[in-house]
Amino acid sequence: MWVTRTIKEVRKIVEKERARGKVIGLVPTMGYLHEGHLSLIDVAKERSDYVVVSLFVNPTQFGPGEDLERYPKDFNHDRELAEGRGADLLFAPSVEEIYPREPYLELGMKRLTDHLCGRRRPGHFSGVMLVVTKLFNIIRPDVAVFGQKDAQQLFVIKRLVEELNFPIEIIAAPTVREADGFAISSRNIYLNEKQRAQSTILYESLQAAKELIQSGERDAEKVIEKVRGLINSADEAKIDYIEIVDTDDLQPITEIEGTSCSSSCSSFMIALAVYFGRARLIDNIILEKRDGELLRAI
Ligand code: AMP
Repeated sequence: MWVTRTIKEVRKIVEKERARGKVIGLVPTMGYLHEGHLSLIDVAKERSDYVVVSLFVNPTQFGPGEDLERYPKDFNHDRELAEGRGADLLFAPSVEEIYPREPYLELGMKRLTDHLCGRRRPGHFSGVMLVVTKLFNIIRPDVAVFGQKDAQQLFVIKRLVEELNFPIEIIAAPTVREADGFAISSRNIYLNEKQRAQSTILYESLQAAKELIQSGERDAEKVIEKVRGLINSADEAKIDYIEIVDTDDLQPITEIEGTSCSSSCSSFMIALAVYFGRARLIDNIILEKRDGELLRAI
């Protein structure tokens, strides 16, 4: 596996592979790789011939008071893991390489960023769109893989690619979980033992919500209340948000099969963000309606 830190070099290497007829795959990450990231490399390898993993803690997507300074890093471990999983090239630029001067460009996305993390983290998706656009223009991948774990990000990127006509296929990869259901995250490292033990409540409460809906509950607020009650039973948990949104526009729905989510809406998402100490953890499930039955989607 090659490692490069410059735009000039990554372009040169990738263009050479493209000229040899290779389909180029990209897996953007902020590093501190774990099994979730590695599963994205697996998907990229299935869908392309040459896999580039980018490793960049993007300052423009962090707000004031967020964890930019203490975001975990372990370059050598990341390199070993990416190479072990079969990545072809690791692109690990410095902040100066990506942002030689303060960016003036601000990208916005209507509707899709009104709720969920978009509401709680102003400017976050602007920073995500900026860095992803840069990576797309630098690497010019044919396919790029993103995790459903960051579902709002996935929907925003899909829409960005559609509206800016990027010739890139966006592939969604399912959330990788620990055996107890906990969605793996680089931010796990912030959790102490008690918080980690209690954090399984996120997955458990999403499963409970799914069962409640499958047993006939259609009032979104009642489902949210159920999730809230379960999460509040963990004394280390501090809820940031719990929302149920239509996956078309990420707007909240009130009735699961009512007017706001009728024939036009085939799936909806229950998404949450919860603090355990300094760690802000997010998780979600997407439920799909097929023949009147509610199913787990991706
Ligand atoms: P990050 O390094 O946190 O920016 O994540 C990079 C990519 O990995 C994003 O597309 C995430 O959605 C994805 N990802 C993070 N955690 C997981 C997980 N547990 N399962 C699957 N994908 C994940």
